Amino acid sequence: MKFAWEKYEELPIGRRNTLQVFITNKCNLNCEGCFAKNIMKGEGIHISIDEYKGVIDEFLEKGGEQITLLGGEPLLHPELKEMLAINKEKGIKTTIYTNGYFLNKFDKLDFEGVKLRISLYCKSGHTKSIDELPKTNIPFDVCFMVSKNTSVDELLETAKILEEEHNCNVFFISSIRELDNARKEFFDDTAITMNLLKYKELINDFLNKYIGDMEIHISKRGVFESTKTLPDNKCRFANYFISGKIIQCPYDVVNKVFQKDYTFNCRNCQQNNTCLMSKIVVKRKL
Ligand code: SF4
Ligand code: SF4
Repeated sequence: MKFAWEKYEELPIGRRNTLQVFITNKCNLNCEGCFAKNIMKGEGIHISIDEYKGVIDEFLEKGGEQITLLGGEPLLHPELKEMLAINKEKGIKTTIYTNGYFLNKFDKLDFEGVKLRISLYCKSGHTKSIDELPKTNIPFDVCFMVSKNTSVDELLETAKILEEEHNCNVFFISSIRELDNARKEFFDDTAITMNLLKYKELINDFLNKYIGDMEIHISKRGVFESTKTLPDNKCRFANYFISGKIIQCPYDVVNKVFQKDYTFNCRNCQQNNTCLMSKIVVKRKL
């Protein structure tokens, strides 16, 4: 099945110097395929505010533009609001990746100017489903993490509910654990990871049948035929883990080789167009 380009326009993606900061390893869930569990072992460790301030100062000196806060579950960090205040004061664009379970402990104002992205594993069920989301008036996007159990109907129904009942504007589709690539450089697949070709088929099927108006963000840019070329071949990503562990490129995560430092827009990357951090953004044509 072909990508439904006749039905969609591809939107340009802004590329910003982005640091993903893993602020805690504490989490209320224990998902199979958890990225953080692999790297941040131990019980309930939170980044301290002093360490966070140091990270932000260095990030800005290096020309950083966007911070993504992850965990563990970042909403369990007791000083999250303080971190958001620091980012706001310094004019840093901020996104939080969350499982959404604790959203009702916060107020809409706590996340003013912050993008919240809730990751879902399924439409209904006991873990990371729409049914599990608390009632909230806080706006959020969703990242649906496809597993080998995901069907196109489930994706379509989830998108419909999110758009009609939660006013979501963005539906991000990704995959539980990263998909394997030809060189097997990334994580091993888990038992629930969807095979790459099936993922491509699922996405194409979804795009052919989808009739809503949300922006659809699709991870794994290189898996699809994008109509846009990325502007340069320099890397703009880095990952910071508590106590100064750095891994610039997710492709290096599998080796758990930590670096002392990171740079933005310096490191040449031949895989830029297939970067694991990259995506395609499309919207249905009117
Ligand atoms: S919710 Fe996120 S951080 Fe928590 S166990 Fe699941 S994947 Fe890991
Ligand atoms: S694949 Fe390239 S652009 Fe993407 S994070 Fe790795 S080094 Fe950076």
